[in-house]
Amino acid sequence: MTGAGAGQLFIISGPSGSGKSSVVSFVVNSLPDMMFSISYTTREPRAGEQDGRDYRFISREAFETMLARGELLEHAQVFGSYYGTHRSILEEARRQGKDVVLDIDVEGTRQVKSSLARAVAILLLPPSRQELERRLQQRALDTAEMVQRRLERARQEIENYRLYDYLIVNRVLADTCAQVQAIVLAERTRRAGPAGSSPEARAAEARAAGARTEANRSQVSAILESFGAQTQ
Ligand code: 5GP
Repeated sequence: MTGAGAGQLFIISGPSGSGKSSVVSFVVNSLPDMMFSISYTTREPRAGEQDGRDYRFISREAFETMLARGELLEHAQVFGSYYGTHRSILEEARRQGKDVVLDIDVEGTRQVKSSLARAVAILLLPPSRQELERRLQQRALDTAEMVQRRLERARQEIENYRLYDYLIVNRVLADTCAQVQAIVLAERTRRAGPAGSSPEARAAEARAAGARTEANRSQVSAILESFGAQTQ
């Protein structure tokens, strides 16, 4: 059976604490014909994580074997562990008539965009460095040192914002989800051509246009500055 999706990739990136996991689960569970790309990782499972649902947890040897065989669409090392997306996700999505959501970092996004230019990349931003720090401290999952490492990593991710097609500042989760929904609908409509256009699709297109990276330069510059990031 084929649905609205047809193997389109939607990348969602964002620093830890940007609200990314909530947005990803909204997209996967509330939008039709979406599937989540379950990444491979060599890091240890955290409490509550399940192998085959959140990640496929594997050894470094197994990861390096997949890498050497060219089986990965992209991969990166984050805080000393490998993460990667298996190429088979593309075939699997087409077979099921679905689009795919990838929760990957900026390095993975660069690799996917260079081999599949039509992949759509969305970057979620916190309102400011101070707000991100507050959220990271509030969830109390990390040591003070880890919070600082995450903030530094966030700065590096944000500096690469030009890789992304869309930027969304996650202030109110429900608004962010509605914006991502509009992006998905607009991208699907564009792919379907003029026949796919409807008043609903045109409204989504207008809303998605407001999230395009070019449209948000001025809005994000203050955020970038709060991180001390290079904006030029
Ligand atoms: P965590 O260990 O907190 O689940 O994820 C750490 C980082 O790795 C997040 O930024 C997440 O987006 C990224 N990540 C998760 N899976 C992949 C993947 O398959 N490839 C890449 N490049 N990054 C990933």
